[in-house]
Amino acid sequence: MTALFVDGQWRQASDNATREIRCPADGSLVATVPEATPDDAIAAVRAARHAFDHGPWPGTATPDRAALLTAVADRLAAEKEQVARLEALDTGKRMVEARIDMEDVVSVFRHFAALAGAEAGRVIDPGPTHVSSRVVHEPVGVCTLITPWNFPLLQTSWKVAPALAAGNTFVLKPSELTPSTAGWLVRTLDELGLPKGVANLILGAGGRVGPALTSDEDVDLVSFTGGLVTGRTIMAAAAPTVKRIALELGGKNPNIVFADADREAALDNALTAVFLDSGQVCSAGTRLIVEESIRDDFVDELVRRAARIRLGGPDDPAAETGPLISAAHRDKVEAYVAAGIADGAVLRVGGTRPQEPRLQDGYYYLPTILDRCTKDMSCVQDESFGPVMTVETFSGATRDEAEDQAVELANDTIYGLAGAVWSENAGRAERVAARLRHGTVWINDYHPYVPQAEWGGFKQSGIGRELGLAGLAEYRETKHIWHNHRPAPSGWFGPEPAETEPAETEE
Ligand code: NAD
Repeated sequence: MTALFVDGQWRQASDNATREIRCPADGSLVATVPEATPDDAIAAVRAARHAFDHGPWPGTATPDRAALLTAVADRLAAEKEQVARLEALDTGKRMVEARIDMEDVVSVFRHFAALAGAEAGRVIDPGPTHVSSRVVHEPVGVCTLITPWNFPLLQTSWKVAPALAAGNTFVLKPSELTPSTAGWLVRTLDELGLPKGVANLILGAGGRVGPALTSDEDVDLVSFTGGLVTGRTIMAAAAPTVKRIALELGGKNPNIVFADADREAALDNALTAVFLDSGQVCSAGTRLIVEESIRDDFVDELVRRAARIRLGGPDDPAAETGPLISAAHRDKVEAYVAAGIADGAVLRVGGTRPQEPRLQDGYYYLPTILDRCTKDMSCVQDESFGPVMTVETFSGATRDEAEDQAVELANDTIYGLAGAVWSENAGRAERVAARLRHGTVWINDYHPYVPQAEWGGFKQSGIGRELGLAGLAEYRETKHIWHNHRPAPSGWFGPEPAETEPAETEE
């Protein structure tokens, strides 16, 4: 059973409070886990501080740190089925998706294992020959790592793997809705010999344990993935002690389709862009921005295909996407759709819960398309984090006019996480990609990512980058060391003044 892990000990909450974890696909009880108190959170921070200041991990040789990460990857590859099941039960997602997520986690650990010794620093030419000057990297210190519920172990791996590769200690706080695979990871690290106090696990509601984890003076860095409002709260909590912060927040991601796109590929990917995982993907392509001349045919076909998408839980082999994470989240998606319709959007498909009796115990919501949207509508501006596509169109008498309009719509958002452009004209696709103010841009594709490439947002989608090389740099401090091999006085302030006789004073 998953519990709190503080200073190398598995324990219950100090007030013995617990929380039931239920599968969103059918409401069945998955686990009962401790719900930590702020005191438990502080104890975890103190343990991580002690392990960083006095323990062996920050000074452990890089190949040994890399070996640990590789061992995690090997263990997960061997236990993939069992860990995928933990993830599928917590999130309600299909086993087929959970297995893919586990494979991605394995790749992330291998990526950071390979990178652990990379970019170790550099030698500078300081000028004088009797001086050596070098820039080195060191661990940041104690890291608070806070993760969301949509890809629980994957989002966790983007933080834990580089934090350990760089030699930090940490307190991990997964979403209170999906704690099971975080428990598996911390248990695995412990079994593989990670020193006591390096990895600590705190479970519970963000509002209860979050303030301590994000404001305590013993924490050096907060890395957070989650919603924009929570991100702002965390920035404010971290400000008084000037912590390093890394934020991966929401998105309102455009999917631009020009009339010269490959029709079948663009149609098929427009569906996966937004309906995969029922839209609970930060980079979901929720805003379809399609050229006016093809809109009727394109949107009619999307509506026809969206109506056929089959919903189901972890073990339904025919299911194509799963439930929403909770009743509260489904309520939010329903309110978002209602607001869109009230603003004048035209509901073409979905917009309601499914009627099938087999889906009544889960938090399902039908794939939904809102047509005839304009950029000022709340459904176009706000993140729904659900299976809802909005449709906007652009047109232009000239090549440049069409591109300008598409780019203007795509960038008209406070977010800047990801987006795509579809066109068989490579020059056009590159021109548009260059102008999108989003951290990831796909050309004639949607969703793929690799751990070797940085991930993160422009504008209010976040601060910093995960994965790639920058994803390791987030967890390192940079130090310049200047070594003078021929020490000598600088002479700046001149010699001591000569001693002078005190002037005689007349009595
Ligand atoms: P959330 O912000 O509600 O919660 C995220 C985490 O923050 C949870 O662990 C939660 O317990 C914790 N938390 C809540 N209040 C806190 C506080 N005051 N202090 C500290 N921690 C607190 O988000 P969510 O609903 O779990 O996830 C959905 C959001 O995450 C969406 O907006 C989505 O776009 C975003 N997301 C972004 C990325 C990315 O890579 N940019 C990836 C996945 C999800």
